[in-house]
Amino acid sequence: MTAPLRSGDPTIVNVALADRAYDIVIGRGALASLGARIKALRPGAKVAIVSDENVAAKHMAATEAVLKNAGIESSRIVVPAGEGSKSYATFEKVCEALIAARIERDDLVVALGGGVIGDLAGYASASVRRGLDFVQVPTSLLAQVDSSVGGKTGINSKQGKNLIGAFHQPVLVIADTALLDTLPEREFRAGYAEVAKYGLLGDGAFFSWLEANWQDVFAGGSSREHSIAVSCRAKAGVVARDERESGERALLNLGHTFGHALEAGAGFSDRLLHGEAVALGMALAFEFSARKGLLSAADAERAVRHLAATGLPTHVRDVPGGVPDADALMDLIFQDKKVKRGRLTFILVRGIGEAFVSPDVDPAEVRGFLAEKLAQR
Ligand code: NAD
Repeated sequence: MTAPLRSGDPTIVNVALADRAYDIVIGRGALASLGARIKALRPGAKVAIVSDENVAAKHMAATEAVLKNAGIESSRIVVPAGEGSKSYATFEKVCEALIAARIERDDLVVALGGGVIGDLAGYASASVRRGLDFVQVPTSLLAQVDSSVGGKTGINSKQGKNLIGAFHQPVLVIADTALLDTLPEREFRAGYAEVAKYGLLGDGAFFSWLEANWQDVFAGGSSREHSIAVSCRAKAGVVARDERESGERALLNLGHTFGHALEAGAGFSDRLLHGEAVALGMALAFEFSARKGLLSAADAERAVRHLAATGLPTHVRDVPGGVPDADALMDLIFQDKKVKRGRLTFILVRGIGEAFVSPDVDPAEVRGFLAEKLAQR
């Protein structure tokens, strides 16, 4: 682990993907370098900035100004905020607007927003003119530590989330931690679940550090930069080793099987945000692993205690309005997961920082566990 950063001192994490390698620039005020960095990467390029209404109201003017100062011509495409914009209709709108703005292969798209904008603008970039280069400027914590890195882009189908998309890596990521100062606290906390995930899945020392420093991460001190840099380094390493998720990258889905089912059960509404569902899913994955005798009850309790201390949901009773029954949750798990020879693949844990892929989980055991948790409501 690197030492905590001094404020104003950007950290650069490289995603080592041979001829598609790119830098993630992390730091308070990093946005100010966007124009110079784009100019160095693509001299003479014009830029289209894709954003949502919330983010544009707060950060569009500053983004346009840094581009203008570097002599870069830009246009803006603003869509409604929220998951509903990961749709065919909004995708069409963004693609048509990019073509109308005459964004060509030598130009660049800038995705200025949270995970929704990154996924949507990234997929439009992958599609228009058979592939435009794009830059991620993530503005939510979730996007800074997870969705802006790794090249997964896409929109939702009526039949499920993220079912239409492409792998399309950005050419640069600028994670300006000051942009998070305007993020609603609940959204920040939901993104923190993904930060904790990196500790819980593969870095026990980072998890211990988070237990001691999470309050400063929330408060915006130097620990915030440090936690984002550690998270990006972890994700960049996994992506460089397994870009297309044929192996290790699956570990990043810790908490996602239970989480997706609960998120779908809550109708993908603001009753349970994605990061909240991941936190609850991780708590369940730890408890399920302990029940299977894979790790001690004390370690499972420690993981759950930390997530709960930050205010994240860790029990099904924490979901306002309730969740579906065990059979309905199992149906949702089956929709989300491939079942091989009647067995489910889960990410389980042998300890804090020791996740592994278990391809042989008995659905009846999962159902029994969920029924027990639901009975504790
Ligand atoms: P989001 O983009 O909807 O952002 C959350 C809310 O915060 C929105 O209302 C947005 O307008 C607002 N917001 C964002 N930044 C802000 C800021 N700086 N100031 C004020 N408001 C701000 O959601 P998210 O949580 O960032 O991302 C969730 C999406 O990411 C989901 O669609 C999920 O599927 C996707 N995702 C993708 C990947 C990937 O690898 N591509 C990984 C994880 C999640």
